[in-house]
Amino acid sequence: MSLSIDMSDKRALVMGVANARSLGWAIAERLLEAGCQVGFSYQGERLRGELEKLTAGRPGTWIQQCDATSEEDLSALFQRVKDEFGELDFLVHAIGFAPKAAMDGRFIDTTSDDWNTALNVSAYTLVSAARHAEPLLRDGGSIVSLTFQASQRVVPKYNVMGAAKAALEASTRYLAVELGERQIRVNTISAGPMRTIAARSIPAFAMLYSNAAESAPLGRNPTPEEVGNLGLYLLSDLSTGITGQTVYVDSGASIATVKAPAPQE
Ligand code: NAP
Repeated sequence: MSLSIDMSDKRALVMGVANARSLGWAIAERLLEAGCQVGFSYQGERLRGELEKLTAGRPGTWIQQCDATSEEDLSALFQRVKDEFGELDFLVHAIGFAPKAAMDGRFIDTTSDDWNTALNVSAYTLVSAARHAEPLLRDGGSIVSLTFQASQRVVPKYNVMGAAKAALEASTRYLAVELGERQIRVNTISAGPMRTIAARSIPAFAMLYSNAAESAPLGRNPTPEEVGNLGLYLLSDLSTGITGQTVYVDSGASIATVKAPAPQE
């Protein structure tokens, strides 16, 4: 497939790339291919080397540490955005975390500390990042985050992350209304299961992965490239009429419970 989008006059901030398998990276790669300048933030110094390798030799890129739950780090990050770019066109939020204990046990036993951590990191940071981005975003800008269908249906062991993703999706709608006045759009991508570092913390992920593939109308899970393509589409002017939406790239798994039988010969 060949499709060319020229984003050489665009500037993006991508928050939450741990390595080449990260969904944030899948979107960033598409932006870079389109000529967009991209700044990246990472949580801990542990990840700096990985991101340095990924961005090496890519003009227009820069990286900065930012714990998205820290107002101080966010202020420093968006000051860097201002210094490097002046203005911003796109914000990609690819951040999620829940304490392991909250996903191992029963949902009913979720502690308030674990609840607060999961919702703070995985949902509130979209709101706070959007607030810091707002004065820098050009009219017509676009914000994209990543969610999972456990927000709508019960997925075993996803527990408090299901509640966090529901909060993220609701926040997407509220932000879309407030930022819509300036034609700034806010959408979230509901991706099928992918083998990333974050996925490793989900107990029974292997079963979740194979069940989703089996029940999906396409008979497989989506690829990171397909997530990247949707990200590019939602950020670009190809999707100017779309905002406040949860858009699925899951090979159709969310609309099916059981894979349809193969047609009889
Ligand atoms: P990933 O590569 O592990 O990326 C998650 C990123 O979130 C990591 O870079 C992580 O940094 C960062 N992060 C966690 N807490 C943070 C904080 N306080 N401040 C800043 N960054 C923080 O995994 P991923 O699967 O690509 O996750 C990206 C998004 O996609 C998440 O929202 C996830 O829920 C969503 N998603 C994933 C799947 C899937 O199956 N993988 C499916 C649907 C949606 P550290 O490594 O330093 O903690």
